[in-house]
Amino acid sequence: MQPTYSFIVPVFNEEATLPELYRRLSVVMDSMDGAVELVLVDDGSSDRSLAMMRELHDRDHRVCYLSFARNFGHQIAVTAGLNFVRGQAIVVLDADLQDPPELILDLADEWRRGYEVVYAQRVQRHREGWFKRLTAYVFYRLLRQLADVDIPTDTGDFCLMDRRVVDALNAMPERNRYIRGLRSWLGFRQIAIPFERDARFAGEVKYTFRKSLSLAIDGLVSFSKVPLRISTYVGLFAAVMAIVMAALVLYWRFFSPVSPLTGYATIAVAIFFLGAVQLFSIGILGEYIGRIYEEVKNRPVYILREVNGFEPVAARQGV
Ligand code: UDP
Ligand code: MG
Repeated sequence: MQPTYSFIVPVFNEEATLPELYRRLSVVMDSMDGAVELVLVDDGSSDRSLAMMRELHDRDHRVCYLSFARNFGHQIAVTAGLNFVRGQAIVVLDADLQDPPELILDLADEWRRGYEVVYAQRVQRHREGWFKRLTAYVFYRLLRQLADVDIPTDTGDFCLMDRRVVDALNAMPERNRYIRGLRSWLGFRQIAIPFERDARFAGEVKYTFRKSLSLAIDGLVSFSKVPLRISTYVGLFAAVMAIVMAALVLYWRFFSPVSPLTGYATIAVAIFFLGAVQLFSIGILGEYIGRIYEEVKNRPVYILREVNGFEPVAARQGV
């Protein structure tokens, strides 16, 4: 029987949170108004996460899982889940219980009212460190300023999507998966539900600073061409400066009785400034070209090592 609801949970070394996650999710699953499947995506964990997923699958037929051949990253894990789910309403949430499972009931209410994307918007994250809060605050506002689509601030991937939205997401061929951006780009009828983000239930944060920074750059580059334009503007500015300087030099050389021109400091500063502008612009170009390269290689987005619980759906690989 096809489930009405599918829950997708990306899991990367979450052995400390999985039992509690399952306990709280199963209460929610029991109180939903339709059949539920729970899709756990193991993103190349090196701890007991996968073994625990096997046990859960044996114990509870609603639990299915996918396991990657290595760590591909959170967004890719969610992408894989979206490729496999069979429900009519699809919920994505983190494994660490920072996204309270009980909120799914509210998300589902809005879905039944006709919304196709119901996303949870964080109103408070006081239980996270100041650095994470500050960088997240700045990033979401910057993205909002620069992005071509209207990406709501302070929303993560915790959301419910209608089947039509997931089909549209799955049909998108891009390898670079910034899901909350793609989700906004699609449109449909969207609504936000405010919630308070809890502290991680147990274990370490799996999103290292490097992974978060890389996700932020992905988001900016995939949804904005403004960085490319910045180099054009800075180039224009440098050209105007150069013309002004040339005019001044000519004036002092031919019309001024005393010339203030002395030393090489000005030249050195100008060279450094231009060098910095050029390297910065090349870096920005590199970000875009690197992404073009990734797309052109056309490799599968992920490699699966183990799939369980999706019979009789034929095994699918990648997108
Ligand atoms: N995660 C993943 N692959 C990774 C990093 C994280 O699947 O490479 C999962 C992790 O298990 C969790 C979710 O993504 O379910 C969010 O990770 P985390 O809580 O560490 O990051 P936060 O968003 O809270 O900073
Ligand atoms: Mg977390």
